[in-house]
Amino acid sequence: MPEALVRNFCIIAHIDHGKSTLSDRFMETTATVDARAMAEQLLDSMDLEREKGITIKARAVRMRFPAADGATYQLNLIDTPGHVDFSYEVSRSLAAAEGALLVVDAAEGIQAQTLANVYLAMEQDLALIPVINKIDLPVARPQEVAQELRDVVGFSDDEILFVSAKTGQGVDELLEAVVQRVPAPAGDPAAPPRALIFDSEYDAYKGVIGYVRVVDGTLRAADRLRLLAADRRFEPMEVGSFAPQLDPLPALTAGEVGYVATGLKEVGDVRVGDTIGVPRGEIEALPGYEEPKPMVFAGLYPAQSSDYPQLSDALEKLRLSDAALVFEPESSAALGFGYRAGFLGLLHMEIVQERLEREYDLELVFTAPSVEYEVALTDGTVARIENPSELPAPTRIDEVREPWVRISVIAPNRYVGAVMEIVTSRRGKYAKMEYLQRSGAAADADLDAVAQSARVLLEYEIPLAEILTDFYDELKSHTQGYASLDYHLTGYRAAKLVKLEIMVNQEPVDALSAIVYGEAAHVSGRALVQKLRSLIPRQLFDVPVQASVGGRIVARETVRALRKNVTAKCYGGDVSRKRKLLQRQAEGKKRMKRVGNVEIPQEAFLAVLQIGKE
Ligand code: GDP
Ligand code: MG
Repeated sequence: MPEALVRNFCIIAHIDHGKSTLSDRFMETTATVDARAMAEQLLDSMDLEREKGITIKARAVRMRFPAADGATYQLNLIDTPGHVDFSYEVSRSLAAAEGALLVVDAAEGIQAQTLANVYLAMEQDLALIPVINKIDLPVARPQEVAQELRDVVGFSDDEILFVSAKTGQGVDELLEAVVQRVPAPAGDPAAPPRALIFDSEYDAYKGVIGYVRVVDGTLRAADRLRLLAADRRFEPMEVGSFAPQLDPLPALTAGEVGYVATGLKEVGDVRVGDTIGVPRGEIEALPGYEEPKPMVFAGLYPAQSSDYPQLSDALEKLRLSDAALVFEPESSAALGFGYRAGFLGLLHMEIVQERLEREYDLELVFTAPSVEYEVALTDGTVARIENPSELPAPTRIDEVREPWVRISVIAPNRYVGAVMEIVTSRRGKYAKMEYLQRSGAAADADLDAVAQSARVLLEYEIPLAEILTDFYDELKSHTQGYASLDYHLTGYRAAKLVKLEIMVNQEPVDALSAIVYGEAAHVSGRALVQKLRSLIPRQLFDVPVQASVGGRIVARETVRALRKNVTAKCYGGDVSRKRKLLQRQAEGKKRMKRVGNVEIPQEAFLAVLQIGKE
């Protein structure tokens, strides 16, 4: 396909603003998929994605669109995830496209993450098409939202399109706009082939499949090729496009988006961001992507120690379809052999946990998530600590530094006080505040009501550790669901941080240690042991639970011994009830870890997250 007839674009949207529904309408109007075969939200193909209603992996689809000018265009839609944890994946999709649709819900308006992704797209010089979706909704306020788009991003009136992804209204016009406003790719079709890998997945038969954007030349399945950074030669088993399933083709030409099945079984060789080129000679690598930077770390242990090899295997395989997942072996005195894994955020962590359990049938114990600390030691070296139990003794430490983030929150004006309170109770600091609508959208309305409902963009600096736990939930509940959040790392700052160590039945349990803010260490310690007392099941003997800081006990509770033998209940009586009881016990056992002679349930390892909540 000549480059003049190709358009590559992606969609930037907040969760639930209609990206998947709009993609479905595109595929339907371009007859890309048979209407009967069309499962709703086709692009979200992973079970988990459908359940959670989010798109985790960037995906792509090729469509044929007969435009008003009489020509038939090849439109490549590259999907992007909408969650704050995955802005790294968004930047990868953007690098493969020339344009982006900015889709905003007509009832909700611009959200914090959408704005962050718009700035990403602007940095990469993409053509942006503002789209206001869900105009069919009775509560839609398309004119007010258009005002926001004008004021905040600087769009002009005639640029903004109004659609309903549900009814299909405006969808044809939108595809026309893609053809007219998104520039055609501008590679050199006659040059030796060069393609950028923007995503990958693993297939047991075809090996690693690279999702590519061809920049120059033509990629053919018969050609010998090379991965530049990995310096690895290969002969593709297949090249093709996304229909949206893999659709083999003889070749991919300059400007096109598609896939290359490399046949390579070593996952590490095919890196997202690498350039595919000819086997020999000097080739200039395409600008790749930023390496994903894990923000959250947690220990990952098999509930049954004998499952360790299965866990190792599962993690290796998972990494193929999740380039952002990093992990390395770790062992814990309490939990045995496992891994320390790094995630982009809490949602990413939750998704990895669920995928390991569902797709690989593993039972896992996760430790509480932690950030990465920088520890300046008295010997002049700096250690990076992502496992709280590894924090050295206080006498060896000069200074502990923790990561800080800048957060943006968008919320209606009336919630500013509530947001401020949540942020400051977590050591956050005010940075700036800005109204999203500069001119009055509802000039006639009561001025006071306008002031209350106007939306503001708030920015704060806050330690990352403080927003890891229930920050987002609290923000949502105190703003009746209206606030949206985005964050990015700004750097490390010194803080008075100490290690809180926990002993259960006189034995230190390393996996329960936490790094806490020094001034609140006693309070945190007391809250943590109280929580643990309620979570650790009663045994046949008293179990003391203690918290200490620098060797000094700061809190103590006791899990009282059982007075009666409860198993007695199982004898006699209703058989099915007895079986049920035993079954429930067996299920409960799964997520237990025996530490010394006490069984500790999974929830206990996450108890540190619950401090301060009932
Ligand atoms: P995504 O998270 O951005 O992919 O959003 P979805 O496409 O999953 O849409 C979120 C919800 O909004 C779903 O319940 C859709 O049915 C609904 N939705 C999407 N577009 C429209 C629209 O134009 N009108 C109405 N009324 N609902 C819509
Ligand atoms: Mg979706």
